[in-house]
Amino acid sequence: MSLPEDLIKVLDLTRSHNRWRRFECINLIASENTMSPLAEAAYFTDMMHRYAEGKPRKRYYQGNKYVDEVELLAMDLMSRLLKVEYVELRPISGTIANAVVFRNLANPGDKALIAPVQAGAHVSHTKFGTLGALGIVQVELPFDLERWNIDVDKAVKLIEEVKPKFVTLGASVYMFPHPTKEIAEAAHSVGARVVHDVAHVLGLIAGGVWPNPIHEGADVATSSTHKTFPGPQGGLIFTNDRALYKAISKTVFPWFVSNHHLHRLPALAVTAVEMIEFGKDYASQVVKNAVAFAEALSAEGFKIPTEHLGFTKSHAFVVDVRDLGGGAKAAKLLEDANIILNKNLLPWDPPEAVKNPSGLRIGVQEMTRFGMREDDFRELAKFFKEVLIDGRDPADVRKKVIEFRRNFLEVKYGYDIPEDLKDSLIKVPMLL
Ligand SMILES: *Cc1c(COP(=O)(O)O)cnc(C)c1O
Repeated sequence: MSLPEDLIKVLDLTRSHNRWRRFECINLIASENTMSPLAEAAYFTDMMHRYAEGKPRKRYYQGNKYVDEVELLAMDLMSRLLKVEYVELRPISGTIANAVVFRNLANPGDKALIAPVQAGAHVSHTKFGTLGALGIVQVELPFDLERWNIDVDKAVKLIEEVKPKFVTLGASVYMFPHPTKEIAEAAHSVGARVVHDVAHVLGLIAGGVWPNPIHEGADVATSSTHKTFPGPQGGLIFTNDRALYKAISKTVFPWFVSNHHLHRLPALAVTAVEMIEFGKDYASQVVKNAVAFAEALSAEGFKIPTEHLGFTKSHAFVVDVRDLGGGAKAAKLLEDANIILNKNLLPWDPPEAVKNPSGLRIGVQEMTRFGMREDDFRELAKFFKEVLIDGRDPADVRKKVIEFRRNFLEVKYGYDIPEDLKDSLIKVPMLL
């Protein structure tokens, strides 16, 4: 029997993607990761077809007796892992988590202070994104280029002057923790709340190598569950403030979520158990790898603008490639060599430079999951030099990259599918 042409095409495209990104590329996108085999198996379940509006054990739909227990267990695991009282798992992405919290803390026309875009603020924090869609007015905090962070003294003055409803911290490119304590003190003195968006660093917080903003004075934290935290794509809100949690929980549904993508829940719970077991080893290796990689790139002749600060304390860093033709060209050449990352604005770039900014953003968390260590990243730095400095043909380097990737195909710091479950499993049908 011959299949319809469109069907063949879609299967072919999907298989090509899977093979390319899973087995042939080195992925350095700072916001991505791969789940363990067991979490992937727990993701592909009948729950992906179901609804469970409302809170566990208080649903508007029948058929949720197991979903309720999985959701409660996932919430409990995440709250133990993050050492906080209250966790809300229903936002289906980090952006939706921000929408829920921002809308709870401010009305249209109110003001919010946000981490500066140069400090890596996410688009959802800005007038161009979720904040703007909610009609909340953005005022940017000042940036200190020397310390690559928010300028604390100026920020405190601005908070006192503007008296916003809330201040957001956290970012999509952030090598050094934002000054939560100082900002929270100033914000609370004018009755403002502090929202800290930890989408990028949740796995580092879970592993104990990055400060937990709730323990540093932030009122509420928002996050994704799929960046340094290697879970399914999704969102998360956590806090120790009971009243705020209750208000937020009442508005997730029906304001921002109806169906909360239930198949995320068992996969998230598996990942939480893995992070309780292996999170410390994983997160500390991530940071060691990031520093080693930045150092090696610098030694190969690349400019790392945070070198004077010890490169990075997170999973990520940026490279200044202005002298090499800019971020757009560099990212494309590397992609042709099967090294995947993204171009990025650097603090001195004007907004209109988005199409060809000065920088590249690099995150090591996913390749760390696949077992790469410091020496492996030193090898990888050589491929960067061949492509971007020596001007080698990316197609030649690609052959070496594919070969190199063969050493790093299995996810570490997680569980495989147990032998006694293998028979009872509907095999995860990833098309290869
Ligand atoms: C990625 C990111 C988000 C958005 O998360 P999604 O799950 O993609 O919606 C929000 N905030 C920050 C700081 C991010 O880096």
